[in-house]
Parts: sequence; C-alpha cells; structure tokens
Amino acid sequence: MSLPKVALVTGASRGIGHAIAIRLAEMGFQVIGTSTSSPGVEKIESALNAFPYKGQGWILDLASPASRASFKKSLEGIRSLSVLVNNAGIAKDNLLLRMKEEEWKAVIDVNLNALYYVTRACIKPMVKARSGRIVNISSVVASTGNAGQTNYVASKAGIEGFTRALAQEVAPWNITVNAVAPGMIETDMIHPLPTEYRDAFIKQRIPLKRLGKPRDIAHMVGFLCLPDSGYITGQTFHVNGGLYMG
Ligand code: NAP
Repeated sequence: MSLPKVALVTGASRGIGHAIAIRLAEMGFQVIGTSTSSPGVEKIESALNAFPYKGQGWILDLASPASRASFKKSLEGIRSLSVLVNNAGIAKDNLLLRMKEEEWKAVIDVNLNALYYVTRACIKPMVKARSGRIVNISSVVASTGNAGQTNYVASKAGIEGFTRALAQEVAPWNITVNAVAPGMIETDMIHPLPTEYRDAFIKQRIPLKRLGKPRDIAHMVGFLCLPDSGYITGQTFHVNGGLYMG
C-alpha cells in the first residue's frame, strides 16, 4: 500500500478550515489541522478519526513566536507535504480613525505575516519532492474593499499579491499557488453581525440569496488539490453566490 499524501490546514478547528480538512480527508489525504487550543485539537482529531488515514491536530497560535517555533519544529518531523492551506484568520473591525495599533497589528500578523512563517517552513519538502499545492484563503473584500475593515482588507489584498509572487517563484518545482476568496460564509466570524443587517445584505447584495456554507469553500480548495488541477497557478477564485463578479 502506498503512503498517503499529507495536507496541512491552518485554523481547522472550526468554520471554513474545518470543512477544508474534512474535504481533503475525504479525498484521501492524511490531514494535519491546527488550532490555538487543546479542545480545538481534540475536535480536529475526532473528526479526522473517521477516515482511513487518521489525521492529527496540532497546536498553532500564529500570534505567538513560541508557538510558531514549536510548530516549525514539528514540521521538521514530517516526511513530506503535498498540500498547504493557509486558512487561519481573524477580523478586528473598526473605522481607521478609531483603530488601535493592536487591532491593526493583530490582524496583519495572524492573516498576512502568517503566510511568511507557515509557507516558508512548508515549502522545503515540496521543493524536494518537486510538487505541491498551496491554497491561501483570501476574501471578497480584497477586491471590493469594505468600510471598517482596513486592517482585514489590507491583509487579504496582501495574501493575493503574495499568491501571485510565490506562484512565479515556485513554478519551476511544479508547485502551484492559488487563492480562494470567499463571500459571506456562515461561520463564527460573521456572528457579530446583527441578524437584520445579515438578512438585508443577503436580500440586496447576494444574487443566490443565501450565505455560503463552509463546504462551498472546501469544494473549491479540494478542486485545486486534484491531480488534474496542476496547470492552474497564481489565480484567485471567487466563491460568493454572485456577491462580486470580477
Ligand atoms: P472562524 O470560524 O472564526 O475560524 C477561524 C479559525 O482560525 C479557527 O480555526 C481558529 O482557531 C483559527 N485562528 C484564529 N486565530 C488564530 C491564531 N492566532 N493562530 C492560529 N489560528 C488562529 O473563521 P472562518 O470564517 O472559518 O474563516 C476562515 C478563513 O476564511 C479566514 O482566513 C477568514 O478571513 C476567511 N474568510 C471568511 C469569511 C466568512 O464570511 N466567514 C469570508 C471571507 C474570508 P481556534 O479555533 O483555535 O481559535
């Protein structure tokens, strides 16, 4: 029996990252998912236990240099890595005039600087294997902008630029790098939005008249990781119910 291909998904304890981890496991990958907490790690492992190649949950707090260092050490222990999904993300919304430096820095660190830390650590085994798939989770707001989210939008626009630059750098090793930009997806991240705002937004702005489900995003990520998707690189794919048509 050949060894399974390994996929790493950051922020796999909940929401979109959890759905991506399950989708990749369904496709036959052995999945490592990360969470900032032990209960998150347990949740990942119990979900991945159902699959023939049992996955693992690892602790990773992208805001903590110590946590990033021990994550990097754990990575050195894995024999190969076929897929990396940079999914973990946070929002700390505020109008720029009121935005505290901590709110700016926290979002840039977890959403954008994380791509430097995690991808740099993961790329070596891919270069060695002369193959790999990297998928970065952006957002529709990287294209449209959104008042009250300068930090978040800057981080997501940065992710899309990073995607295009890295795609060019690693193409000689047959590694593809793409971004997926979700619209408004039903997860904890949008829970702070008042119900009336959400309902009006769906009615007025989303042609398909519903919020997205995490699995709608996982489906696109899974597609990019199929063996036949190897000629797609440097692109951003929008999955948003028609909210934005680029
Ligand atoms: P979510 O339900 O809030 O889940 C966020 C995930 O990120 C969790 O697994 C969380 O881990 C992890 N995370 C948070 N802070 C972290 C840190 N400091 N270090 C490492 N991991 C951390 O969010 P989601 O809606 O699924 O979002 C997933 C991605 O999609 C994000 O990049 C987000 O920007 C993007 N996105 C979401 C939407 C949407 O409408 N939901 C739209 C566009 C883009 P813990 O459980 O351990 O905290």
